[in-house]
Amino acid sequence: MSRVELIGVAKTYDGGVAALHPTSLEIAPGSFVVLLGPSGAGKSTLLRTINRLETPSAGEVRIGAEAVGPANLRQLRGRIGMVFQHFNLVGRLNVMTNVLCGRLGKHRGLASLLFLMGRADIDKAHAVLARVGLTDKAWERADRLSGGQQQRVGIARALVQEPALLLADEPVSSVDRATAREIMDLLADICRSDGITTIVSLHQVALARRYGERVIGLNGGRVVFDGPVGGLTEPVLNRIYGEAAAAEDGDDTALANG
Ligand code: ADP
Repeated sequence: MSRVELIGVAKTYDGGVAALHPTSLEIAPGSFVVLLGPSGAGKSTLLRTINRLETPSAGEVRIGAEAVGPANLRQLRGRIGMVFQHFNLVGRLNVMTNVLCGRLGKHRGLASLLFLMGRADIDKAHAVLARVGLTDKAWERADRLSGGQQQRVGIARALVQEPALLLADEPVSSVDRATAREIMDLLADICRSDGITTIVSLHQVALARRYGERVIGLNGGRVVFDGPVGGLTEPVLNRIYGEAAAAEDGDDTALANG
């Protein structure tokens, strides 16, 4: 359970792209927040400034009571799980080994270098694999699994860290619609049952409607909406998507109703 606060956080990439204009927001512990916006809106940048996969050009990120900085980054990152669009697994390694990668941050020096895991790590890995429904896949090569199963491994790798905060960057963009729902159900359940603050970026309005409690809408690196999911009216969607709003929404209608 971590509270997250952004205070004037901005990111301009080398080359001058202002991906995120100064942004301040607060995310309550244990909440499930959807970042919604079209491709290029700055969702990924915002998420990645939280765990400093991107260094903000300005502003401060606070997690719990602590400002994220070089001194506490390692310790804080240890409690932040990240789930990626393309899963970021090592395909030729088995599922168990991929999951155990999530434990590396818990070990220092040689133990981590030599991948020396103890009974507790392996027990924890089994527990999270059971949590994501992959008990029977532990010893299979990761690249033999379906996309949905691979994303479950990605989620297990994040959970094995025992995170207080889970960041999921377009976690369902590489899977089919039915699988997207399963993955989103899993993330929502993890947030609700385990009390892990969860921030998920999505570009699909229907998924945001179905799963978001609070939705933060981004366009051009700016927050253009921040409120409960019921506030996603047509004018708001126009602010988030511009001309593309109707198409995006229509495209997802089957998913919303199905
Ligand atoms: P989203 O996740 O909403 O698709 P991103 O945060 O990935 O948006 O991108 C926001 C803007 O920043 C886009 O214009 C994108 O091209 C640009 N951008 C993202 N990453 C980089 C980078 N590493 N270097 C330069 N520009 C980038």
